[in-house]
Amino acid sequence: MNQPFPPNSWEARAERSVLYGFTDLPALKEHGPIVLTHGTGIEVHDVHGRSYIDANAGLWNMVAGFDHAGLTAAAKAQYDRFPGYHAFFGRLSDQTVALSERLVELSPFDSGRVFFTSSGSEANDTMVKMLWFINTVSGRPEKRKILTRENGYHGVTVAAASMTAKPYNRHFGLPLPGFVHLSCPHYWRNGEEGEDEAAYVARLAGELEEVIAREGAETIAGFFAEPVMGAGGVIVPPAGYFQAIAPILRRHGIPLISDEVICGFGRTGRLWGCESFDFEPDAIIASKALSAGYFPLGAVILGEALAADLVEASEKTDEFVHGFTASGHPVGCAIGLKAIDVIVNEGLLDNVRAMAPLFQERLQALTALPHIGEARGIGLMGALEAVADVGTKAPFDEDLRVSERIAARCLDNGLICRPLGSAIVLCPPFIVTESDIGAIFDRLEESLRAVFAGIG
Ligand SMILES: *Cc1c(COP(=O)(O)O)cnc(C)c1O
Repeated sequence: MNQPFPPNSWEARAERSVLYGFTDLPALKEHGPIVLTHGTGIEVHDVHGRSYIDANAGLWNMVAGFDHAGLTAAAKAQYDRFPGYHAFFGRLSDQTVALSERLVELSPFDSGRVFFTSSGSEANDTMVKMLWFINTVSGRPEKRKILTRENGYHGVTVAAASMTAKPYNRHFGLPLPGFVHLSCPHYWRNGEEGEDEAAYVARLAGELEEVIAREGAETIAGFFAEPVMGAGGVIVPPAGYFQAIAPILRRHGIPLISDEVICGFGRTGRLWGCESFDFEPDAIIASKALSAGYFPLGAVILGEALAADLVEASEKTDEFVHGFTASGHPVGCAIGLKAIDVIVNEGLLDNVRAMAPLFQERLQALTALPHIGEARGIGLMGALEAVADVGTKAPFDEDLRVSERIAARCLDNGLICRPLGSAIVLCPPFIVTESDIGAIFDRLEESLRAVFAGIG
């Protein structure tokens, strides 16, 4: 740290007592923590009265901003009415019923069933257990393997971390056996010399066929994919990708699970990412924007066929023995109902669509800077890939910590954005205005120019 914080400061107290998760410790040592007190609109404010535009909407989730009066009113009203309950033993709150119904209604499924969790990780683990339960009870106990893609992010619990094909999970001795990782569908980075997008998609489809042949379809329980990889650095799949892989999975009897924890509820400009990329999943995993970040809430939404399979398996064993104490929490569900209302009926989704062209245009414009190899995105999500050489796509030396330096410079400029590998990720709240987008990109551009000038 440049200057030690006084012993009674929030920063020093944090240093003594808080265990940081997902925090780059060299950067933390240099800059210290930022301790926040509150937020207004798309900004958060720290204990020193400094303000930052949060161009990451918290962690993708604070889509209605940090002080939405309708959402806090819904939370207060439900706390006054029924501040907590579970959903075990056939006892559950009316709000849980209402939100389940609403989610099925908004889903791409004609009918289905919903199971609530407190997070996206728990929702993915729940989905894995559902598939294992269905297959085990119906006499196919060997149909257990889970397919995901490199760089995909599905969470941090043991199954979800095994699905998350990021190198850092080796520090935990993960993945567990039976979690199989395919290639990341990133054409700009992984397409071969002279290979067009269609040929690249055909190669990925061929890989999937090979993996299924090698492992045996009868051993594979499901394929999980984010429509757009979020925490992998906003990887938008190449055109035709899902149209190529979905039929292969169907032919082999492997359910396709759409992990919509980031894409769901409007991030891509449609309510669901699977709508933006035009494919039909067998189940949807939701969280993050589901409560607009105002409550820890996740959900598994099963389509008709998997819902019927799960009900049948449960009847065979008399019970689906799974659930969290906070599953279907009445306050979470009341907030979820209100968040959906705000997104669908009060103009948030419309605003994503209205602002996306300007957002993507400002993002693309930054490729004019010397070290931006790729600008990519859809809706209100985007990433910039910093490279040492735009022509060869050669990455910067990791020791230069370029994306960390860009993010740090942005903070000095009152802008929160996220360094992810060699990329900078932006995913502002859905309430952004034209002038907010102007401010975000003006601050980002200044930061990029300053850092690139320092590197030479
Ligand atoms: C954030 C995320 C998760 C994990 O959600 P948590 O609430 O952090 O457990 C799972 N899948 C995707 C796609 C995510 O972005």
